Order: sequence, then C-alpha cells, then structure tokens
Amino acid sequence: MDGLLSGLLAYGRCGGAYTLVGGLHYGCASARNKGTCNNRRMIRR
Ligand SMILES: [Zn+2]
Repeated sequence: MDGLLSGLLAYGRCGGAYTLVGGLHYGCASARNKGTCNNRRMIRR
C-alpha cells in the first residue's frame, strides 16, 4: 500500500489526496487546505 505508484496521488498516511501546488509540486491537500495533517512535504511532479 506504500508503493510509489499508488502513493503518487493518494497519500495513505492521512487519507488525504495530493494536490498540485504551484504547478511544479504536489502536497497533501489536508495539510495545505485544512491543517489537519502534519505532512507538509512536497514532491515534484
Ligand atoms: Zn496528509
């Protein structure tokens, strides 16, 4: 469940989805929008 492909757009740790940030990076939508997640790590697309 922690594979790269399955983890690319849906982040399993908090259940939040990755959302595109600034056109270059993906970040956890929950952390970014709701602050309910402490995963603020960004990944490059
Ligand atoms: Zn999260």
